[in-house]
Amino acid sequence: MANLRLMVILVTVLIYLLPSCIKSLEIILPKSLNLTLLNDTSTISAASQDFGNITTVKPGGVLCPSSPAEISRLLSYAANGERKFQVAARGQGHSLKGQASVLDGVIINMTCLSGVVVSDDMKYADVAGGALWVDVLKKTAEKGASPVSWTDYLHVSVGGTLSNAGIGGEVFRNGPQISNVLELDVITGKGEMLTCSPQLNSELFDGVLGGLGQFGIITRARIVLNHAPKRAKWIRMLYSDFTAFTKDQERLISMANDTGVDYLEGQLFMSNGVVDTSFFPPADQSKVADLVKSHGIIYVLEVAKYYDDATLPIINQVIDKLTKTLSYLPGFISMHDVTYFDFLNRVKAEEDKLRSLGLWDVPHPWLNLFVPKSQILDFHNGVVKDILLKQNSTSGLTLLYPTNRNKWDNRMSAMITDEEDVVYVIGLLQSATPQNVPEVESVNEKIIRVCKDSGIKIKQYLMHYTRKEDWVEHFGTKWSDFSRRKDLFDPKKLLSPGQDIF
Ligand code: FAD
Repeated sequence: MANLRLMVILVTVLIYLLPSCIKSLEIILPKSLNLTLLNDTSTISAASQDFGNITTVKPGGVLCPSSPAEISRLLSYAANGERKFQVAARGQGHSLKGQASVLDGVIINMTCLSGVVVSDDMKYADVAGGALWVDVLKKTAEKGASPVSWTDYLHVSVGGTLSNAGIGGEVFRNGPQISNVLELDVITGKGEMLTCSPQLNSELFDGVLGGLGQFGIITRARIVLNHAPKRAKWIRMLYSDFTAFTKDQERLISMANDTGVDYLEGQLFMSNGVVDTSFFPPADQSKVADLVKSHGIIYVLEVAKYYDDATLPIINQVIDKLTKTLSYLPGFISMHDVTYFDFLNRVKAEEDKLRSLGLWDVPHPWLNLFVPKSQILDFHNGVVKDILLKQNSTSGLTLLYPTNRNKWDNRMSAMITDEEDVVYVIGLLQSATPQNVPEVESVNEKIIRVCKDSGIKIKQYLMHYTRKEDWVEHFGTKWSDFSRRKDLFDPKKLLSPGQDIF
């Protein structure tokens, strides 16, 4: 009897312990695959975190592929028979909530594949999925060429931004980065290596662009290039009136290339946040700070006009003509003349500054939204004034700028609110401490709730939902295509499980 009781206890203990033993088991790959998985503590620890600094998800191993064929072998093995482990491509891990993570599965360190080859006619570059945009810029600019659409921050991977959309101040004119891709090499969840384009395997091409890593791993992207300008006139103007600010933004994004600006964004200076006046000359900085104090919110219109030797003689005239038509507060304009590279790489300087203050590797409970133009004033009143400005303090950046929806291709997976032609990009880019993450997250939830309750038709970007119904709502009429493509290209649901969709 005593023996029986002992056995029951032993079995019970085993049942409870077994799952955790399995979890910590390393993944053993057959020798015939000829693949080495790294699982040392520092590699695993680095692959468990991301820029969001809110989640920790431990993979079982990390593969640093020396060729796309290695990824294909790994996925063919994983997909063969019973699901053995899941797989997530990881570029820079600049996700916010574990989107590039995989519990106990294999992380593919895409930065191991990072080549950039510019075509002879300089019309496109063939870029490895793990290449950083900053390296694409360096390689192409050497030859006098450049991609035409950029994210604000260039130290992110090509595969990572193409899996989302890749948006920034050139989208109004050239579309998001996904609209500037000619062809892709993709390894599906079944391990197949396929080339796709609008003409070839178009279902895979459309699915992967903005597809959150769900259908395949991008190992090569053919990116559209144009002539690279040499320099940029980079201008910020201040507004105290929201309607005047958005009216000017909207007019500028409707102008033709030669008369208008090349880049347009906007941000808010709020009296309860840190106001970075450093763009303005030292003599004006206290005036800018006073302006924010007295108005509560100041709206910063940011534009750039690119130029080079051919346009040098007329650039000042063009800028004068443009700025004369704008209704910013008289005197509150500041212009920098910088190289094209320094302009595009401008956030790196911010990163270096924040790193030196120990403020880069902190939690980032960011909320990114698209808001239709007709509801931007409601958003401003209901969210910016009634919620954000009423916080005791805010820490981080608030972006607000319009873009043109007709530059997006609705066949692709990426979602943008489909209500109107002009859509605003909102970035509530808060930094937090480990202690106040829940507080900032609850403000974010309140913002989403307020938008829903007041009928503001937002769409989230870089989102992380944990409930299936939220994903179904997010993709709307595209959901049936999205889930059908999953069954087609990744039937075992191996890829990018950190997105929590399937
Ligand atoms: P990861 O975080 O590594 O991966 C993101 C997702 O893509 C994961 O699901 C991953 O599995 C998948 N994935 C990664 N590589 C591949 C691949 N080769 N094939 C298939 N799937 C893959 N975004 C903008 O659009 N505009 C901005 O202006 C902008 N500014 C930013 C500024 C900062 C400071 C930061 C940290 C981020 C910014 N982002 C911006 C967000 C950024 O584009 C996304 O976080 C993007 O995913 C980052 O790329 P990554 O290489 O770090 O991707």
